[in-house]
Amino acid sequence: MGSESVKVVVRCRPLNDREKALGSKMVLTMDLQRCQCFIKKSVSTDEPPKLFTFDGTYFTDQTTEEMYNESAYPLVEGVIEGYHGTIFAYGQTGSGKSFTMQGVSEPAAQRGVIPRAFEHIFESIQCAENTKFLVRVSYLEIYNEEIRDLLGNETKQRLELKEHPERGVYARDLSLHTVHSVAQCETIMEQGWRNRAVGYTLMNKDSSRSHSIFCIHLEMCHTDAAGQDHIRAGKLNLVDLAGSERQSKTGATGDRLREATKINLSLSALGNVISALVDGRSKYIPYRDSKLTRLLQDSLGGNTRTLMIACLSPADNNYEESLSTLRYANRAKSIQNRPRINEDPKDALLREYQEEIKKLRALISDQLGSANLPVLVPEHQADTQHPSNTEGTKEMKKNYEERLARLQADFSAEQESKAKLQKDIAVLRSSYETKLSHLEKVKSSRGSSAPKNVSSSSVTEEEHSHLNTKTSPNSTKEDTSNELSQSTVPCDAAAVAAEIQRSPDGVTESPGVTTAGDLEQKEALKRLQRLEQEVVGGEQARNKEFQRRQQQRRKVADQRKAQLIKALSDNSEESDNVLFSVYDSIQEEVHAKGQMLLKVQGKLKAAKLEIRDLQAEFEEERNDYLATIRRLEREGQLLHGLLERMTPLVRRDCNYSNLDRLKKEALWDEDSATWRLPDVMVQRTTLPTAVAPKLSPPRGLAADSEPLVVDDDRYKQMLDRSDSENIANTYFKSKRASQLLGSETTKGH
Ligand code: ADP
Ligand code: MG
Repeated sequence: MGSESVKVVVRCRPLNDREKALGSKMVLTMDLQRCQCFIKKSVSTDEPPKLFTFDGTYFTDQTTEEMYNESAYPLVEGVIEGYHGTIFAYGQTGSGKSFTMQGVSEPAAQRGVIPRAFEHIFESIQCAENTKFLVRVSYLEIYNEEIRDLLGNETKQRLELKEHPERGVYARDLSLHTVHSVAQCETIMEQGWRNRAVGYTLMNKDSSRSHSIFCIHLEMCHTDAAGQDHIRAGKLNLVDLAGSERQSKTGATGDRLREATKINLSLSALGNVISALVDGRSKYIPYRDSKLTRLLQDSLGGNTRTLMIACLSPADNNYEESLSTLRYANRAKSIQNRPRINEDPKDALLREYQEEIKKLRALISDQLGSANLPVLVPEHQADTQHPSNTEGTKEMKKNYEERLARLQADFSAEQESKAKLQKDIAVLRSSYETKLSHLEKVKSSRGSSAPKNVSSSSVTEEEHSHLNTKTSPNSTKEDTSNELSQSTVPCDAAAVAAEIQRSPDGVTESPGVTTAGDLEQKEALKRLQRLEQEVVGGEQARNKEFQRRQQQRRKVADQRKAQLIKALSDNSEESDNVLFSVYDSIQEEVHAKGQMLLKVQGKLKAAKLEIRDLQAEFEEERNDYLATIRRLEREGQLLHGLLERMTPLVRRDCNYSNLDRLKKEALWDEDSATWRLPDVMVQRTTLPTAVAPKLSPPRGLAADSEPLVVDDDRYKQMLDRSDSENIANTYFKSKRASQLLGSETTKGH
């Protein structure tokens, strides 16, 4: 299995109005040809700019369209082949992550990566021949280390993470929505986006504090020339991360700070995962440290193709953040993934669908077959053995035309699948024409008569062959129904359903067949139609415009790849040339090498500056962490103090009165990242049931050897006594009264 590195591109947005008004300077420049990005602190002019090289650089003027076509297109193309893919946008708040992922509708070139991916996927699906797709989408957000379903009925409900040996890590109960078109995808995306927005206004938060993952799940079933089905599954994660700025700088306090710590926790966990992956020495990759890294586990060092889009602000007041983003992105470049095509996934829903579709088709064609058998057989024979006469041909033609018209009327009422309709009509027409010409040919050669009832069932036979397209693909190749790609199948089912609902002549003529069998047929057809509507594919297989667009895009992506390879080899060749080239004179060599030396010295200086900067940054980060630890310690102390005061107030027979025991019994649950605490229990003291008193051995004898038995017996005796003494009546009896009574009796005597 080959490995490939995570692709990283950077995108710089233009200065915004506020920055312009403040008179901010640009600190970023780019060499688009060589994919290089330079950052230079404007005040210190003597320091050389820092240089970073990526797989793509997009400056203020480049559009999302250019970026998508060059960098995202190959990845999404891979998803359609059955690879997993992830595109994530990283960067500080306001750097253009949502602008890149969601985008704006105007101008069209700035439409986001997510809607472009929809369009791309559906275009490929519609052009694919002999392949059926099941497309489902999900949309979740991670806020404060809690996962929420943005498309579910209950958007505030927390979802749990689960791990499956094959599926990997997933959010349990996350809703998946089947989609059939780009428009549907867009509606769903907007719905999720709105849920995200509503959540924020209600809870007074903004999008910079949550991570969101839009996921397109693709299942595809390709039928090869031998009629064999091959199932694959690809998944495209589109991730819009929370802002990467350091929160201590923004002056957040209280809840905001706590929230920020959690966001940073996820992002720094992401950073740690990246570092661990890049640093070949560490065996342990801390995926489990945050929800985000767990969900993206496969995208970082796993079975996924990954593209990171690092978004940058060019303004000098964001220098630190931009530099930190560039460093982060630079590290991510070295992550090695091991993507592979996901063939034959065990849990593919599409397989279940396809199998059921096949069964239903067989069932229906069986029923149709038996219902029409008396008609079908002679028709079939007529086709192959007995030539038709002119009258028969005419009648057949009339009948075909009638049915054709009926089909047309039926489909035009539906209006929505125009392309499918035309294709279906074309199939019928060509089939009818072939048969006509065939019959005419046979007639002219033999000239004998044919059965009269041939006509009414011929279309039914045609339908019959439609229904069998998938099960016997060889037959489709031979006759005219090779026109019939799988894409027409939903139409076939619809047509047959319509036919049956209208009770076609061939069937209604025999009243016995229409009742129970008919109902069953209708049910089966309904289900078949429903199933076939769930899957899409091949609707525009012969649309030249679609094909041209696809080819054009592929060409752009290929050109880009070639350009990248050249740029990268140019970068590395430069120094080799100086060392290995042959010089005419020693002066020339000295000059060239002197130049080279200067360059290397410049690099050394830059590297030293980088070390200094990094150390300063680490120091700052360390202080940040220490501050967080101190704050958490203080919080811990407060809670502990409160608990110590409160435990004596808890009743003694409750298990929560013993803190040490509780701490021992509490368990940390990795999956839900929560503590599992023992249930609150109150132990009531119950008196043991009475037993017959045993004769106690003489005290002196047993005292040393069996003290427990003796004690036991003593308690039993006490209990027995107390039983016989009737505590309830004697204990609460007023002493004064008994004393008086006692004295009275003594007096009386
Ligand atoms: P983020 O999601 O990173 O917090 P946004 O995507 O919301 O940031 O972008 C912040 C602002 O900058 C938005 O008003 C957006 O329209 C604008 N913006 C971002 N990138 C670009 C760009 N490449 N060209 C023009 N405007 C941009
Ligand atoms: Mg955003």
